[in-house]
Amino acid sequence: MRVVLSGPPGAGKGTVARALVAQDGSVPISTGNLLRTAVAEGSPLGRSAEGYMLRGDLVPDSIIRGLVERQLRECADRGFILDGFPRTIPQAVSLEFIMLQLELSLDLVANLAVPIDVLLERLANRRTCSNVLCQEIYNLKSDPPEAGNTCRRCGQPVEPRPDETEHAIHAQLKVYREQSAPMAGHYQRKGLLLVVREADTKAAVAQILGAVAARRRCPVE
Ligand code: AMP
Repeated sequence: MRVVLSGPPGAGKGTVARALVAQDGSVPISTGNLLRTAVAEGSPLGRSAEGYMLRGDLVPDSIIRGLVERQLRECADRGFILDGFPRTIPQAVSLEFIMLQLELSLDLVANLAVPIDVLLERLANRRTCSNVLCQEIYNLKSDPPEAGNTCRRCGQPVEPRPDETEHAIHAQLKVYREQSAPMAGHYQRKGLLLVVREADTKAAVAQILGAVAARRRCPVE
């Protein structure tokens, strides 16, 4: 499938993406994970992106676009779940251009619309595997790591992300409200938007899979 996941920080995009790719072998493309890997490797791209990420700001499009385009070219045949891109209307337009070049179309854009109190609770309890090749996501209450705060997949320490300070989270939420939320109207007009109000991962995944199947039976022109 070819699906975009959008939603504020803490909405569960990463968790839903992992559940969706398990269904059909689509490739998860998380711009946040790719950027964190670049930062950990100390690559020029990572060094350029790090300051923006720590502040909770968007990394400039000049950095993001090439990163996404490379990934999409590599997995064009297998399908993909885009998590964290696009985040603005100009990025959505860039994605349309890339898809046109690859002669692909999106199945749908799922907006995970989770209430603010649930977001804040999740962000306070979110922990991520520090191994950038893993980045498994945990929740201290509903899905805790192994004893000693280690990852059940790779055994590395599980920690809060460096951009999960109160200041950065506040900035991320503001960026979402001002720059990402308006994408809903853009995709609504294209007939691609699915608003998912289920906070529960299983229910959200079921709703997305149902909508993708319906779209395939009856495509929107
Ligand atoms: P995420 O893991 O999706 O929460 O992303 C973490 C951080 O990476 C964001 O707060 C941004 O600084 C940066 N980032 C991720 N995706 C994008 C994007 N599409 N455009 C700009 N910055 C991004």
